[in-house]
Amino acid sequence: MAFLIDGKKISAEIKEEVKEAVAKLAAEGKKVSLAVIQVGNDPASSVYVGNKKKACEYVGIQSLSYELPEETTEAELLKLVEELNNRADVNGILVQLPLPKQISEDKVIQAISPDKDVDGFHVQNVGRLSVGADGFVSCTPAGIIELLKRSDVEIAGKECVVIGRSNIVGKPMAALLIRENGTVTVCHSKTKDLKEVTKRADILVAAIGKPKFITAEYVKDGAVVIDVGIHRNADNKLCGDVDFDSVEPKASAITPVPGGVGPMTIAMLMVNCLKSAEMTGK
Ligand code: NAP
Repeated sequence: MAFLIDGKKISAEIKEEVKEAVAKLAAEGKKVSLAVIQVGNDPASSVYVGNKKKACEYVGIQSLSYELPEETTEAELLKLVEELNNRADVNGILVQLPLPKQISEDKVIQAISPDKDVDGFHVQNVGRLSVGADGFVSCTPAGIIELLKRSDVEIAGKECVVIGRSNIVGKPMAALLIRENGTVTVCHSKTKDLKEVTKRADILVAAIGKPKFITAEYVKDGAVVIDVGIHRNADNKLCGDVDFDSVEPKASAITPVPGGVGPMTIAMLMVNCLKSAEMTGK
């Protein structure tokens, strides 16, 4: 039976650490604050934004909420971002994606000050990660590294295979695993003989966006399997990109869905907000 990597427990530990550090800053008269912008009322986005605000409240980070109408123009949103960039009392800026089609997501992300880019999506932060410099790292892959480290999974020297090359998950995941001295292969929809590649993995990260795609035949005996996917099946139950029942008996360790990677994303957002406040010395 595989060891279950417990994202719920590890994310709770991280939030406690952030809470303590935020309280210490507060005792010195320094506040930590995150501006959260949502445009329109996409129900999934509202749930994500709600969860982020709840986490802020729990750890003692002040969240400033901006709920803009669906018809907001790009210029209006860019103006708000600029105002928040210039406010000394705002440490982090988060624009919930997706944005309505009249607004360029890329333009908005690149308008956020790299020092307040707690999602780690700005090209400057992506560049810092790729050259091994300090900066903000995309929360989901950063959370996966924490899951591995806090579960005592050695990364150095291991064959790591990442399935998916998105800017938010796959690419930063690969960069982080390289930084941890893994030997990294990135797969995508044009990869030939996917199974042959994934079966080499000591650590397999599935970020494909296809429910239960990874079955036992993609996995080497004893591999550590990290499932990034989140889907709802026909019975409205959550499942991942990995077929858990098929893969679990073969893996040495595996993340469940829910309760694996999912809770780590918000915990790492809290870590990034704290880091932003510490960097600016507020
Ligand atoms: P994405 O942008 O849709 O990227 C999917 C990647 O998978 C692409 O690079 C694609 O290749 C590759 N792919 C698709 N079909 C494939 C196939 N048959 N064989 C090999 N590679 C294939 O998705 P994402 O944003 O990275 O997210 C991935 C999953 O993680 C989704 O289920 C998403 O909901 C979930 N997610 C979870 C969290 C969390 O907090 N837990 C956070 C973010 C995302 P191409 O580049 O060639 O198209």
